[in-house]
Amino acid sequence: MNTAEIITVGDELLIGQTVDTNSAWMGMQLSMTGIRVNRITSVSDRREEIINALNEALGRVQLVLMTGGLGPTSDDITKETLAEYFGTRLVTDPEVLAEITDRITRRNLEMNDNNRRQALVPECCRVLANHGGTAPGMLFEKDGKLVISMPGVPSEMKMIMQEHVLPMVSEMTRGRTIIHRNVMTYGTFEAKLAERLEGFEKELPASVKLAYLPAHGVIKLRLTGTGDNGPEVRRTVEEQVVKLYGIIPDVIYGEDEVTLEETVGKLLSVRNLTLATAESCTGGKIASLITSVPGSSGWFIGSVVAYSNSIKTGLLGVDPGTIRRYGAVSEECVREMAEGVLRLSGAEYAIAVTGIAGPDGGTPEKPVGTVWIAVASESGVIAERHRFADDRMINISRSAYTALNMLRKQIISS
Ligand code: ATP
Repeated sequence: MNTAEIITVGDELLIGQTVDTNSAWMGMQLSMTGIRVNRITSVSDRREEIINALNEALGRVQLVLMTGGLGPTSDDITKETLAEYFGTRLVTDPEVLAEITDRITRRNLEMNDNNRRQALVPECCRVLANHGGTAPGMLFEKDGKLVISMPGVPSEMKMIMQEHVLPMVSEMTRGRTIIHRNVMTYGTFEAKLAERLEGFEKELPASVKLAYLPAHGVIKLRLTGTGDNGPEVRRTVEEQVVKLYGIIPDVIYGEDEVTLEETVGKLLSVRNLTLATAESCTGGKIASLITSVPGSSGWFIGSVVAYSNSIKTGLLGVDPGTIRRYGAVSEECVREMAEGVLRLSGAEYAIAVTGIAGPDGGTPEKPVGTVWIAVASESGVIAERHRFADDRMINISRSAYTALNMLRKQIISS
């Protein structure tokens, strides 16, 4: 039983009112126990949809996890549908009734019919106690296949998963090891990375899979190793991680879930260095990323959000002639901004950013998405011109992360 499927039930999931975070969480937990999720399906609160989804899933796998539609209201029909599906009737479970009564009376409320209905469960199921709410989880077994139904409320689903489902699933997959290792990269494109890793992928052992997971310019390379011999799986995956460092050392900035801002913070902290930023189009985003890391007061001095030219010239000391001659989005201006904030703060490193985030303000020579980034230190200033996207938020985010990556490279090369 190494594969499973997830069915989430609820109209709210289909009209975009609720994002299906339950599946994501369950998928991650299952994968850590060595179970591969084959498919995730979301269906409406309609009997036929639930039955069709169950028939299809059970035609493919032996384990199906479901959430949602267990509440006491008339639109919650999962429980009735499961009773019908497994050819059984609903009966009152005395333990569930006692738990619900206790929960209700502790809150000084009166038990009503809806509360009593919550204690009804299909006769053939095994009840999985829900200590976080009133709707219990239910486990059905038929022809060697398992269906587990849990409430939609994420905190209640998680409790039932942790208390009942995951221990049971771990038992089923005992002896099987699954190892995930993430190698974090920045400063390249997925297609380019795939090209550089073509040979690596061809030589990957059959027990190891590689996935590219891009988000905000960061591409996470996830290596997943599976097998029955734990130490061997671990060793094989580690060998592949080492190989990656040999092929793409220029774009790897860390491992597992580390962020660029954490990596930069660590680099500054171990070298006892400080940083300041002068931010135009990023409006303080770099400072915000840096200060999201605990302990950042140890390496971050501060930021000047130099949005207007008057702050660039008045506070950072950018020459007004520079802006007149070259414009605020120019190499000359970004260099002077970086030097200005370095002087002003007394930090060892400074980052400056100036660009056109959009949607307005672009010209043929400087289209929307044009961004100049500089990193300054006592050994000089380096400046780079980038052209990101047409979208304002993407431009701000890419500018900030690219600036952090430039700083990272600068620190490790000095
Ligand atoms: P309860 O009896 O405790 O109400 P239930 O099984 O009836 O549980 P639902 O009514 O379907 O659960 O949903 C309860 C809450 O959980 C809602 O706020 C809903 O938005 C949220 N929820 C339901 N399904 C999901 C899901 N797949 N991911 C995240 N949240 C969900």
